[in-house]
Amino acid sequence: MITIEEHYPGRIFKHCPRCGAGGFALRDASSFRCERCDFVYFVNAAAAVAGLVFDDSRRLLLVERKNEPRKGMLDLPGGFADIMETAEEALRRELREELNIEITTATYLASFPNRYLYGGITYFTLDMGFICAATDFSRMRAHDDAAAIVFMRPDDIDLDAIGFESIRRMIALARQSPSSPTSAF
Ligand SMILES: [Zn+2]
Repeated sequence: MITIEEHYPGRIFKHCPRCGAGGFALRDASSFRCERCDFVYFVNAAAAVAGLVFDDSRRLLLVERKNEPRKGMLDLPGGFADIMETAEEALRRELREELNIEITTATYLASFPNRYLYGGITYFTLDMGFICAATDFSRMRAHDDAAAIVFMRPDDIDLDAIGFESIRRMIALARQSPSSPTSAF
């Protein structure tokens, strides 16, 4: 159940994106209707991916966030899926952009909803976690949204240092059932 909070789109969107009229009113907790042209806009969850990459010592790769929201906190590498992209393609692209590594396998773990405050609006996301393997860490560098890379044993990670609830839940799940990747792309 969505609770309407300060940054919810219903507090931000004032005009119809089709005809430009004011009076772009919330119809319910997740949709708007234009009073002039009847256009209905749905606020759907945005798809996002996160990669759980382990090294040979079963330490989990974490990134320090370079940008807001949650700048300076720890995160899993990943990000939003682009339009018409698969989750696997988004994962491959994001880990390439943030870490300069190539994934060889990705096994679906679980998904958790999240709130992502950016530019004064809360984006509601569905974060999909994948256990990933990468063959070569030799050219790995922190890029893009990642300020630094750290490897930690899952049990040693302070969950309060993780920026997002969905990522905390993925790490907690990985602690319970440390699985190795089996599915190739
Ligand atoms: Zn309209």
